[in-house]
Amino acid sequence: MTELAAPKNLTRNVLIGMGAGFAIGALIFYTNIAPKFLEEFFSTYIFSLGGDIFKNLLRLIVVPLVFFSLVSGISSLNDMARLGSIAYKTVGLYLLTTAFAVSLALFFGWLTNLGAGFSGDVAPTDLAGGEASFYDTVMRIFPSNMFGAFVENNMLGIVFISILFGIALNATDSVTGGLSKSFEKLNTVFLKIVLMVMQFAPYGVFCLIGTYVASKGLDIFGDVAQYVMLLIFVLIFHLIFTYSLILAVFAKLNPIKFFYKMKDVMLFAFSTSSSAATIPVTLKTVTQDLGVKKDVGSFVVPVGATINMDGTAIMQGLATIFIAGITPGIELGMIEYIQIIFLAVITSIGTAAVPSAGIVTLTIILSQLGIPLEAIGLILAVDRILDMLRTSINVCGDAAVSCIVAKTERGLDEKVFNS
Ligand code: ASP
Repeated sequence: MTELAAPKNLTRNVLIGMGAGFAIGALIFYTNIAPKFLEEFFSTYIFSLGGDIFKNLLRLIVVPLVFFSLVSGISSLNDMARLGSIAYKTVGLYLLTTAFAVSLALFFGWLTNLGAGFSGDVAPTDLAGGEASFYDTVMRIFPSNMFGAFVENNMLGIVFISILFGIALNATDSVTGGLSKSFEKLNTVFLKIVLMVMQFAPYGVFCLIGTYVASKGLDIFGDVAQYVMLLIFVLIFHLIFTYSLILAVFAKLNPIKFFYKMKDVMLFAFSTSSSAATIPVTLKTVTQDLGVKKDVGSFVVPVGATINMDGTAIMQGLATIFIAGITPGIELGMIEYIQIIFLAVITSIGTAAVPSAGIVTLTIILSQLGIPLEAIGLILAVDRILDMLRTSINVCGDAAVSCIVAKTERGLDEKVFNS
């Protein structure tokens, strides 16, 4: 999977980009060292232009990425009918844990008023959307024009079309000469494009952070630190609380044994930031150390890496609340919260299991709610380490669900699990 590995030295380079953006932005905002024309040139033609180009690169790949990812995610469920109850339990548990994960994030975000303490002003809303009624929201799921939905970036509609297309593609695979394989290949191409765009993340972060600091100073960063701390807290809470709970309640298994045996998998996921790259290690641990039978593990683990991303959903929930909180004029009510849960669950299926993909699909949720993408630079600047952490949570979710499905399907060797 070296083709789909994270760009080399990305963490280090993003940190350098961030530091440089901070430094030059602060010089412009707080001092008069440089002549005015130079400051203006830098702010407009380096920071703003570079930041806008990077934001567009992120937006540019969202629609095809979600479409191909969802379509090929659905083809990986091809075996649903054959596997029967194993498949339904697997998908059901994955969706349930992801919905729970994002709800937890929204709860803690709401409880701590994340981002709301920020008094500065962030860019005004640059996307249409805003106050959509419940009726309009439902209608957006069912667009009257397929291509219209793509052109208008109507994500709810695109998700619906992708699901419809994916199901039809599977159903006709035998008479289309295995067309679904071509969609999987195209999906890989778009994953590569995500990683290519991410290679520019250090420059993107430099420009976006620079734009912020040069125009608004450093006040915002207390709030960013709050976002980071809260995200780490919710990730760890979900890891320890939710997975222990479902293991104990649904499968009567000892969570401590589970976490102990998962440490290498989590470390591997942490260092690669990719659930997909971690599949072989997850599979080995799940079958050899946790006692899940091979036929169960070899279905549940790869499907999980594709569609189950609890850590990513938590990040998306908190990041949405945070960005909405620091942006004037954006209020999140009950309808928006329900939309975030729905979108986070669906986009977690559509999020590629490669580094930083969660940030790309975060733009879907933000766009859908009419929240400007300007602040994504703040999230991106701190995202490298958070991506590593949430990938560890993602793979832990895959393994926990594997154990539960195996236990309830008589496919778990408990002697091995408890050894
Ligand atoms: N890196 C994550 C994974 O592979 C996806 C993401 O949240 O960016 O699981």
